[in-house]
Amino acid sequence: MKAGILYAAKDIRIGEASMPEIKPHEVLLESKAAGICGTDLHIYLGEFEGRVAYPAIQGHEFGGVIVEVGSEVTGYKVGDRVAVDPVISCHSCPACVTGHINACRTLKLLGVDLDGGYGQYVAAPSSHLFPLPDSVPMTHVPMVEMYALGHHILQRGQVQPGETVALLGAGKLGLSILDVLCHSVSPGVTIVTDLQPFRLETAQKLGADQAININEVDPVERVLELTSGVGVDCVIEAVGHYHLPEGQEAPLAQAVKMIRSGGRVVTTGLGEQHSAVHFKTLVLKEAQIIASRVTRGEFPRAIQMMSRGLLHPDLLITEVQPLDEITAAFAQVESEDPCTIKVVLEI
Ligand SMILES: [Zn+2]
Ligand SMILES: [Zn+2]
Repeated sequence: MKAGILYAAKDIRIGEASMPEIKPHEVLLESKAAGICGTDLHIYLGEFEGRVAYPAIQGHEFGGVIVEVGSEVTGYKVGDRVAVDPVISCHSCPACVTGHINACRTLKLLGVDLDGGYGQYVAAPSSHLFPLPDSVPMTHVPMVEMYALGHHILQRGQVQPGETVALLGAGKLGLSILDVLCHSVSPGVTIVTDLQPFRLETAQKLGADQAININEVDPVERVLELTSGVGVDCVIEAVGHYHLPEGQEAPLAQAVKMIRSGGRVVTTGLGEQHSAVHFKTLVLKEAQIIASRVTRGEFPRAIQMMSRGLLHPDLLITEVQPLDEITAAFAQVESEDPCTIKVVLEI
């Protein structure tokens, strides 16, 4: 079969891969669309060497049409359109047995540790499939995982209607969280920070009340000014690898200064950099820092909202490219073009 294959760091191109063989509880899926995520870029750049073995078939935000069903699969048939939850947990480690299956000690992701959606065909466990209504086009299917992440992050932060929320970072993930936040939680005031005007404009289109360009304004000062010095109820850090204007602290350090007493900070970026947090400030506020990793059961909610047209994937998917253009598509994502948000490959 044809696949977009990562042969070595920064060497991704179309190649031939062997057809996946399915186990009794799996289905064979014809992949239809797969997103390029920040994690995919890190893998492409070689930052996952040791975890990801070459040649690798990436693509963990994907879905498609079932073409073969394993002997023990029930509830699905050939021709069904589905989204795939890529998180594979062991169900026996201490994290799994206490319900934290998304932080499994040996967690594996289809498209990271196992072959994923950049191949024409993928073997996927039937327990990880979610039916996709006809009202959701296949080019939107990569957004199911992104929106499920948004639901998980908001659940981790226990964000309530009417609360003030600051979202740091209006990239692919930040804007997906924002879309879910503005259209499911009814926040009081939503403040977004970034340094790219296009992303900030998109944030406002999605419903952000305040868009702060950190190249022009100190985000901590501005958030405190907007909340009469009190701080926000919840800060969501979705920056990951950061580039900051001279003199500004790391996003997590900013978050601790922006939060109100007793508030919550949710951190979800996967940057390698260290963040020096002033813990005395955190203690005096008795605030919480909560981490959020992948998803845990939020796919149906994401699909439901998409099928009802409550979310805005068309604003976030700035480009759809055929699989044959995978080399150029990764080069484009790597270039950090300020007007590119989500790039989707049509398989
Ligand atoms: Zn991802
Ligand atoms: Zn486990």
